[in-house]
Amino acid sequence: MVKSSSLFSLLSQIFVFQQLAVLCVSQDFDFFYFVQQWPGSYCDSKQSCCYPTTGKPAPDFGIHGLWPNYNDGSYPSNCDSSNPFDPSSISSIKSQMQSEWPTLACPSGDGDKFWRHEWNKHGTCSEDILDQPGYFQAALKLKQETDLLNVLQNAGINPDGKFYSLTSITKAIRDSTGFTPGLECNVDESGNTQLYQIYICVDTSATNLIECPVLPRGKCSSRIEFPIF
Ligand code: 5GP
Ligand code: 5GP
Repeated sequence: MVKSSSLFSLLSQIFVFQQLAVLCVSQDFDFFYFVQQWPGSYCDSKQSCCYPTTGKPAPDFGIHGLWPNYNDGSYPSNCDSSNPFDPSSISSIKSQMQSEWPTLACPSGDGDKFWRHEWNKHGTCSEDILDQPGYFQAALKLKQETDLLNVLQNAGINPDGKFYSLTSITKAIRDSTGFTPGLECNVDESGNTQLYQIYICVDTSATNLIECPVLPRGKCSSRIEFPIF
């Protein structure tokens, strides 16, 4: 007969083993922010910008990143230094990356530096779910699916340097995606508040849009400029 103390020890070991197994397969974040930036608002602010070595990007939203996040608003970062960005992993989608995820920081670059930063800081925190090509491809697909510029233009909201109400921008995106986006503003050189970034929330598989568990503090006023690019 098994003594109760050794039975207890056996059960404890099984319990610990199960917890470890759960830890090994589960991801440590709650959802993704899929963040797109308006190039006109990145460029006409105090920091200014440099066009990529491949030339001026199209007047369209560009991807900033796909960021693992926690429901309380905090987020993990730089999760695995042993899995650094490998440019060869995305060589087959490089031209798409250059048009959809262009870098605008100075000095001009071809994008590798921006993508490296995004993978190392954010992508490594979802590496159990998306490997490097999978991570970048998931973002490209989300950009195509959300098609934000088209959605805004269909609602009469154009990048023409005019001012639009925050509620009209939010509504246009909610009507098309089904979910409320987060909007972030910055300030141009004349002090106007303008539409800088749009946050869309996505589930941990990076495929389904969801209602944001928490919205970023966006610094927008009730009417904001949508600058020309
Ligand atoms: P900033 O301070 O300019 O808003 O953000 C700087 C950087 O911090 C962003 O580019 C991004 O890498 C990270 N970051 C800022 N806010 C968030 C957030 O709410 N969630 C996540 N995951 N990252 C963020
Ligand atoms: P995050 O804000 O994601 O932590 O960091 C953005 C980093 O990527 C900064 O170091 C910034 O200089 C660099 N970067 C390169 N290209 C771009 C760009 O087009 N937009 C933004 N927001 N950051 C860029």
